[in-house]
Amino acid sequence: MKKAVILLSGGLDSATTLRIAQSEGYECCAISFDYAQRHKAELTAAKNIAKKAGVVEHKIVDLNLRLFGGSSLTDDNLTVPTGSDIDHSQIPSTYVPARNTIFLSVALGYAEVLAATDIFIGVTAVDYSGYPDCRPEFIAAFENMANLATKIGVEGHRIKIHTPLIALSKAEIIQAGTQLGVAYQDTISCYQADEQGRACGQCDSCLLRAQGFAQAGIKDVTQYVI
Ligand code: ZN
Repeated sequence: MKKAVILLSGGLDSATTLRIAQSEGYECCAISFDYAQRHKAELTAAKNIAKKAGVVEHKIVDLNLRLFGGSSLTDDNLTVPTGSDIDHSQIPSTYVPARNTIFLSVALGYAEVLAATDIFIGVTAVDYSGYPDCRPEFIAAFENMANLATKIGVEGHRIKIHTPLIALSKAEIIQAGTQLGVAYQDTISCYQADEQGRACGQCDSCLLRAQGFAQAGIKDVTQYVI
């Protein structure tokens, strides 16, 4: 079986991506990041999802991005925008500077050690918060870099960054995942989930998720604070 590295945040998209990779016949190794994020409960979710999915191994990397903050997810002086404060005309404060570049770079190192040339990331450029590092152009550029930057790439083993969700709406993601048996009650998407993993229902991530379930015609199993 071919090995793949899956970036697993504990959210809806990455849980679906993991199941898609498994359904394509990959033996999956998951990687998650404790970056001192506000919604640390997602890591508990990631552990649970990885265990239930039967991944080969699950690495949780300590990488404290709170050291320099710069995002409402890593700086308590900034608030997560909710409701009418969400401004879709600009990149929101929940953007974590260079997060996907950092995470993919670490995942690339892990993959090279495993001799795995396939990395899966659950980015989507349809129902999303407008982050520049979720766009197909970014993924293509990173993949190009990965093949230039690594021994495995230079030796002719083509590294591929898989983004199976990139062109799917949230509803389509939920429909695909439901067919593959993703237990969405195990996932946490909220930017400010409480310690028990309960969602606020008000942030952009909660709103996109709720809209996705509604449009998919599938019962929203998310646990909310209220
Ligand atoms: Zn929320």
